[in-house]
Amino acid sequence: MSAPVSSTPRARPLLSTMMDVPLTVQTILERIRTLYFDREVVSLMVAGRDEAGNPVPEAHRSTYGEVAERALRLANALTALGVQQGDRVATLAVNSYRHLECYLGIPSMGAVLHTVNIRLHPDQVAWILNHAEDRVLIVENLFAGLIPAIRAACPGLEAIIVMGPTPTPIDGVLDYDTFVAGHSSDFAYPDLDERQAAAMCYTSGTTGNPKGVLYSHRSTLLHSLAAAPKDALDVGERDTVMAIVPMFHVNAWGLPYTCALVGAKQVFCGMFSDGKNVARMLEQEQVTITAGVPTIWMGLLGELDRAQTAGTPYDLHRLNSLVVGGSAAPEAQIRAFQTRHGLKLNHAWGMTETHPLGTVSVLPVGVDLISDEGYALQAKQGRTVPLIELALLSDSDEQGGAGELLPHDGKTMGRLMARGPWVAASYYKGEGQSNFMTLGGKLWFDTGDIATIDARGYMHIQDRSKDLIKSGGEWISSVDLENALMAHPAVAQAAVIAVPDPKWDERPLGVLVLVAGASAPDHAELTAFLAPRFAKWWLPDAYEVVAAIPIGATGKFLKRELRDQFTAYQGAGTASRD
Ligand code: AMP
Repeated sequence: MSAPVSSTPRARPLLSTMMDVPLTVQTILERIRTLYFDREVVSLMVAGRDEAGNPVPEAHRSTYGEVAERALRLANALTALGVQQGDRVATLAVNSYRHLECYLGIPSMGAVLHTVNIRLHPDQVAWILNHAEDRVLIVENLFAGLIPAIRAACPGLEAIIVMGPTPTPIDGVLDYDTFVAGHSSDFAYPDLDERQAAAMCYTSGTTGNPKGVLYSHRSTLLHSLAAAPKDALDVGERDTVMAIVPMFHVNAWGLPYTCALVGAKQVFCGMFSDGKNVARMLEQEQVTITAGVPTIWMGLLGELDRAQTAGTPYDLHRLNSLVVGGSAAPEAQIRAFQTRHGLKLNHAWGMTETHPLGTVSVLPVGVDLISDEGYALQAKQGRTVPLIELALLSDSDEQGGAGELLPHDGKTMGRLMARGPWVAASYYKGEGQSNFMTLGGKLWFDTGDIATIDARGYMHIQDRSKDLIKSGGEWISSVDLENALMAHPAVAQAAVIAVPDPKWDERPLGVLVLVAGASAPDHAELTAFLAPRFAKWWLPDAYEVVAAIPIGATGKFLKRELRDQFTAYQGAGTASRD
């Protein structure tokens, strides 16, 4: 035996001889400019309106070369406007080539791309723009009607730029295409620190206001690298990817960046995400990977079934996977796509704070896709992608301690904790500190989800510790609605809970306790009462009057009990998203 290596303590570990190259979005922009310039980018845009006033789609075709050139012009144009490193530039836009230009151009100049949810009420949009301290807003012409209200409510906004033509010119507003065309594509990239912010998204707000998450250049690059491999989203240069998940929702699950990094063709369907338009685009563009929430897939399934029954099925033979996330994909839906159309749903889990990809339900070696075991595993949220760690924690103890780590036995439910290089370590402006905690010397993020993890690492979401309602992939805050309802003179107490809905997964049901002697206001009256303050799709579809709402020890409504009480309640599947 040789003598043991001497263990004399060294002052510090030996550093490697490797380069420390910053990981930045500039790399992605340069790849599409220099390598993938002739790969196509196809966007469904609104060409006009039909006689009934419905938007008519038209495919706009460009290339990565054109997108890169315009992204660089945009960076020059924003610089000329006075935008500096660290400044927030907001977008209020649908998925399109123009939005992709913003994704690449804004971070590459060191500014921060702040994508804002187009489905929020204008007051919420204004709140977020003010909180983020956005200096510039780039808004799709479809939402130009909001500009006067936003301008009045957001004095910090120094410039507004509109994407696409507007019926009448709007005073003091720049036209995006003219703005971009007026500047050179010869842009001198600034040196960036990979840890500086590249993009920003707001959470949907659990108990009160939404919180900002700032994605770094480094986290964006690492997330793109982690999302591309075979056992993650399986994206390569030969793919054509249609992200239906909106570009304001966690960077469309990072797909615009992942696709550009590897050179995959991108297809955007803008505001046309109904079953017919989605099916048509999947077929026409020979899409290989698409991504969306279960509601989108429900619409697509209906259209595929209809076309099959009519004897005119769509030709989707190139479609390898439909990534599904944002809400749990029901096993019945996974089975229906596979058995009726030979299509595979690829179930993934993540959240705004995890950039978002955390897990993907790829099957382990030896388990057949088309088997009971295979379907059951696919209905779980899956195993972590490399570099993401998950843990389960018990509830905090009576002394307010963090709780204990729980076993991964597939049965024990716990608070799902996450950590990794693309998981938030804090919120913007230091808010929401209690969601971050150090356990055994490591920083963890408390996701707010309740889950199990089995011995093979398959995570399964059981519930949300929050009581938000997820309708069509978008959150509805029950707390906000309750607070508003309780302002009605006839309402003493209000709890808003999620009920299952065949179209939107969940819809809100208002449960009311009336003021003594008051008569119950009808649905129309309550709708009119709430309408000025909320987007229409947030409003409860139905109300139930009860004698009392169950209250827990800490004085909070026991929503779980209420949900049990109304477990047979079903949404009608008819609510509209507009
Ligand atoms: P958001 O930050 O809006 O993306 O919402 C994140 C939340 O959506 C997570 O904390 C989960 O509660 C839920 N979620 C996301 N993906 C899934 C999934 N595949 N199954 C169940 N819930 C999901």
